[in-house]
Amino acid sequence: MRPAGPADLAEFATHNHHGAGSSNGRPQVDLEAAELAAADFLTALGIKLDSEELRDTPGRMARAYAELFESPPLRLTTFPNDEGYDELVLAREIPFRTVCAHHLLPFSGVAHVGYLPGDRILGLSKLARIVDYCAARPQTQERLTKQVADYLATRLKPRGAGVVLEAEHSCMTIRGVRAIGSTTVTSALSGTLRSDARSRAEFLALAGVQ
Ligand code: ZN
Repeated sequence: MRPAGPADLAEFATHNHHGAGSSNGRPQVDLEAAELAAADFLTALGIKLDSEELRDTPGRMARAYAELFESPPLRLTTFPNDEGYDELVLAREIPFRTVCAHHLLPFSGVAHVGYLPGDRILGLSKLARIVDYCAARPQTQERLTKQVADYLATRLKPRGAGVVLEAEHSCMTIRGVRAIGSTTVTSALSGTLRSDARSRAEFLALAGVQ
């Protein structure tokens, strides 16, 4: 896996907050311009847009991609770990979908996200929300995996964090090598989940990887 450091998170934050004039800090989306560009794009590919079926396709394309890149702001509410729970917390098979940064074709699959609690714990649904949030932009699977793990490590400060992603990339299955049914697995581990062999093995076993 490509090593990714805090710079990736910084870049990520920038990506999500440079929208001048947008009230929620997200980049402003110009659907009209996107629709015009989609019409030009399809026309350049030799697709005639004068049939009833295709007439509204540029607009639908623009809205579909806007939806893929849209995510409500992520508020990560944490709670004190009053019970002193110190075993693994793991959410398995969180479904996700995003588009690959290289072809802008969808890739989708499941994420297994876990952490070893420190002083604070997280509402369980937030693990899925973090995945959703990080997936709402053109992605590579490696970077998405690392961003979810980094987000958890930075914001929750657990003793360890682990993320495994299994995904099928349509840029691999419907074009190019047409490797239908092949999945790609990536993982990112930090803290005790990385350094302690037993914790690491437990996490990967529960995530169904080993
Ligand atoms: Zn691709």
